[in-house]
Amino acid sequence: MSLDLSTSTSIVLFGPPGAGKGTQAGNISIFTGKPQVSTGDMLRAAVKEGTQLGIEAKGFMDEGLLVPDNIIIGLISERMEQDDASGGLLFDGFPRTIAQAEELSKIANVSLVIMIEVPDEDIVERIVGRRMDPQTGEIYHVKFKPAPFDVSSRLIQRKDDTEDTVRSRLDAYHMQTKPLYDWYIEASKESHLRVISIDGRGSIQQVSELIENELRR
Ligand code: AMP
Repeated sequence: MSLDLSTSTSIVLFGPPGAGKGTQAGNISIFTGKPQVSTGDMLRAAVKEGTQLGIEAKGFMDEGLLVPDNIIIGLISERMEQDDASGGLLFDGFPRTIAQAEELSKIANVSLVIMIEVPDEDIVERIVGRRMDPQTGEIYHVKFKPAPFDVSSRLIQRKDDTEDTVRSRLDAYHMQTKPLYDWYIEASKESHLRVISIDGRGSIQQVSELIENELRR
């Protein structure tokens, strides 16, 4: 069944930390025209602004734990009220638990679920070397995507991109988020939902092509 991108259905993108979700979501958003909604970015913005929600979320994020479902569901419900949500959204890093997926199914019509798979061994190296340019938001990697010389002095590392925290985030992924794949496969049996698994081990370009091929099908 081909995906009708003109409809108001939404897309869910999930995968382990460091799988390239954010980067790929940017491409998918351009390809489909659906606005990218990243709960991770929303939470980091709330932490930076020092809002009550940010203060509550920060401790969980710093420990590599998932932020409680009620906080996340509140964030998403608010986001769904904005005008651009009516054409469907691209959810990046949400849902991350079955409870979140159940809530989402009540407020959005999800037609495609994309899981990006990357083995744990590759994740740690990817994340610990990840750096961001605070001026542009561009993501670099000390080994795989070095920043230009004039940018490198201002690069920052996300507070939760340390090796210890990555291991907690991976545990949370395997215990709480990965089961979403089977949950969505079950749900797809009674709907038009398409659930696909993408090999995320290649280059950004290669993974992007795999996803675009699926979007064109
Ligand atoms: P991310 O940028 O997607 O890797 O998210 C960074 C951190 O934000 C995660 O490690 C969680 O602590 C928190 N977070 C982001 N999205 C969610 C979500 N849907 N449910 C629970 N916690 C989340």
